[in-house]
Amino acid sequence: MQGRYSRQELFSPVGKKGQKKLQEKHVLLIGAGALGTGNAEALVRAGVGRLTIIDRDYVEESNLQRQQLYSEEDARLAIPKAVAAKRRLTAINSAVRIHAEVIDASYAALLEWAKEADLIIDATDNYETRLMINDVAHQLGVPWIYGACTGSHGMVFVVLPGQTPCLRCLWEKGAVGSGHTCDTAGIISPAATHVISYQVTEAMKILVEDWQALNGRLIMFDLWKNMHKEINVGKVKRSTCPTCGESPVYPHLSSENLTKTAVLCGRDTVQIRPAKPGEVNLPALEQTFARQGYSVKRNPYMVTIHFSPHRLVVFYDGRVLVHGTNDEAEAKKYYARLFG
Ligand SMILES: [Zn+2]
Repeated sequence: MQGRYSRQELFSPVGKKGQKKLQEKHVLLIGAGALGTGNAEALVRAGVGRLTIIDRDYVEESNLQRQQLYSEEDARLAIPKAVAAKRRLTAINSAVRIHAEVIDASYAALLEWAKEADLIIDATDNYETRLMINDVAHQLGVPWIYGACTGSHGMVFVVLPGQTPCLRCLWEKGAVGSGHTCDTAGIISPAATHVISYQVTEAMKILVEDWQALNGRLIMFDLWKNMHKEINVGKVKRSTCPTCGESPVYPHLSSENLTKTAVLCGRDTVQIRPAKPGEVNLPALEQTFARQGYSVKRNPYMVTIHFSPHRLVVFYDGRVLVHGTNDEAEAKKYYARLFG
């Protein structure tokens, strides 16, 4: 397609040279919610060479207010976000190589995909995953862009391994969220789009290798309260940091290979991830529970079983979402019923 990127090439910091670089780069995007869909759409329209999207969830009606790639039909059919995003992105720009993975972001999975990436973009909603991205990025020396939003508030910071402080440094200083608060404050879409604008702009600077242009500060804003500030956090970097310090141990490396139970913030849902992902026979699972009289639904990616008052969603890799509870022990009982 001729002239597709002409306006972007006219912008001198990109130019034809920058555009060519952009088309040779691979971005790993973790999360396909509000931040993920916005980042993905902008980068795909900008003509990035390759985009890998990792997301563990499926589209629900309450996502449509801000998650810009999804439709009512995606929600009605409960299509995994990574799959629905890929479909829409391919329609937008068929020249971009898009790969979508419907998985929970484990250390092993991140490491595998990040090895081939020039940049990682954080579009998650929790600090456990962000600290894991932080470890993987430092282990491999790949830059990554932290982004977070809630209510009308947002934050962005570019982490350059070996240069800037890392997220753990900021987190331990209390400069970014504590990671233990389950956020139910809601969100307005401009808070997400504002974070996306900063993330995509910093991403483009990295991808066209205009390192001088990077912002370098921790960006914070609250659109409703008319607040914007940028904080110089250079001094926060610690030489004893287990991720970016002199003798890194990458703390998230050692927490792998366990069955992981996680309460999903503000969702009244517990996720259980098996220690070893293995393929589940979804049609067989559907049959077993349908025969026992339960209400069961299946699409190519997952089976939904109603154990009233709870709803269980089983993905093909063995991961299970137990909706209707925040109690991990209760969720584990249901999990045992599935595979027991
Ligand atoms: Zn650090």
